[in-house]
Amino acid sequence: MKLVFEKSSPGRGMELLAPCDVPQVELAKENQRSSRLRLPQMSENEISRHYTELAKGAHGVNDGFYPLGSCTMKYNPKINEKAASLKGFTELHPLQPEHTVQGALEVLHLAEIYLCQITGMDAMTFQPAAGAHGELTGLLLIKAYHEGRQDGKRRKIIVPDSAHGTNPASAAMCGYDVVSIPSREDGCVDLEQLQAAVGEDTAGLMLTNPNTVGLFDKNILEITRIVHEAGGLCYYDGANLNAIMGIARPGDMGFDVVHLNLHKTFSTPHGGGGPGSGPVGCKDFLKTYLPGAGVGIWENENGKAYHLTDHEKSIGAVKMFYGNFLVVVRALTYILTLGKEGIPEAAANAVLNANYMRVKLSDVYQMAYEETCMHEFVMTLEKLKHDTGVSAMDIAKALLDYGIHPPTMYFPLIVHEALMVEPTETESRETLDEAIEVFRRIYQQAAKQPDYLHGAPYETPIGRPDEVTAARKPILTYRWEGQET
Ligand SMILES: *Cc1c(COP(=O)(O)O)cnc(C)c1O
Repeated sequence: MKLVFEKSSPGRGMELLAPCDVPQVELAKENQRSSRLRLPQMSENEISRHYTELAKGAHGVNDGFYPLGSCTMKYNPKINEKAASLKGFTELHPLQPEHTVQGALEVLHLAEIYLCQITGMDAMTFQPAAGAHGELTGLLLIKAYHEGRQDGKRRKIIVPDSAHGTNPASAAMCGYDVVSIPSREDGCVDLEQLQAAVGEDTAGLMLTNPNTVGLFDKNILEITRIVHEAGGLCYYDGANLNAIMGIARPGDMGFDVVHLNLHKTFSTPHGGGGPGSGPVGCKDFLKTYLPGAGVGIWENENGKAYHLTDHEKSIGAVKMFYGNFLVVVRALTYILTLGKEGIPEAAANAVLNANYMRVKLSDVYQMAYEETCMHEFVMTLEKLKHDTGVSAMDIAKALLDYGIHPPTMYFPLIVHEALMVEPTETESRETLDEAIEVFRRIYQQAAKQPDYLHGAPYETPIGRPDEVTAARKPILTYRWEGQET
């Protein structure tokens, strides 16, 4: 397929900008381009066809099953998009006077209330733009808390080895030393190891529960007690709250800070790189450190009005203004659509769907853990690879020919030849049955035609790109012929 630049034809196209109706300003010399900006020149229908062709070559939730573990690629109701495209939301300016943006402030206020109810937290900021950004923000709260108590010796963050890769990365970015503790055979936190790791230098623990192997750690109260007793705080990675929302709350498990991925659990389409939202909730004693403004209510006999309030000891802004506001609109729409009954029901279905697939596959595929899982399960293809040479990668690629997006591969790192499957709550039993059938067929093929699977996929626009080169040396710009820089 040709690039949009290669389809360009000089002189073709249309005026993008209306004639200038404000005084023109001469930019300072150093801010001016040295050569003319070259953009592809195409007619509107050529552009339309170009992007339609690109869209057809990609796999999205609207194309088929997308069981990408830890990513929650569920169907996101279209009504959320409708709410997020209302002019009253899209045409606001963040510096408008408060009395002109009461509706937007109410959205932030309600979203905070509901998400605090769901997580068991007391306050929330919507500034962080992604999950990892929320982690950094939450850790900055923990840091500010210890510093506020003149407790400078707490330099370490404990992270179980089953953690999502962003956890240790965020702790390191925040300037902490990362202490990794090994998980037990059953994938849960080893209490003895934890007890041995905590001490006067412990700033906190980062944990996700259900953990990255899809299991709920039954010792969670004991875990948070051990950390608190040592004087540390507990951080909950709530990127994937699907399994427990409306059923169990991080706040009740003993956590002090939590981030959510609105673009996973609370239904904003993602996968293309954003925009996302990783709000951070905290208990009351950390509220004063939150970034950005909070929303308060003034109430008197004339009614009520929302207003912005500053946090006294704020860590400072982590993003401009109120974060990705329209993602919050989508999340609030989703919460209000599902309501108090629908949210736990969605969680129950996420867990049911994952266990349905797990059990229906477990006579063929080897599960990494035998327990009942939460919203996702992990298989290990170590034995299959040993016996047939067919790897987790081969199976994942073969699924593409059946219109199924591969599960997450080779993660979590503690499971060898891992495939992590998250069907999500929005798939029907028929879809799950079809996928189970495909998984089983490919498994049988592994013994008979391993070479065929090494070469899969055969039906997609591209086969197997060199993923290392693509990640390490991505080509992100286009150079026109004869262009110098
Ligand atoms: C996705 C995910 C993250 C990171 O979220 P981003 O929005 O991609 O930064 C963190 N933790 C877990 C468990 C996740 O699944």
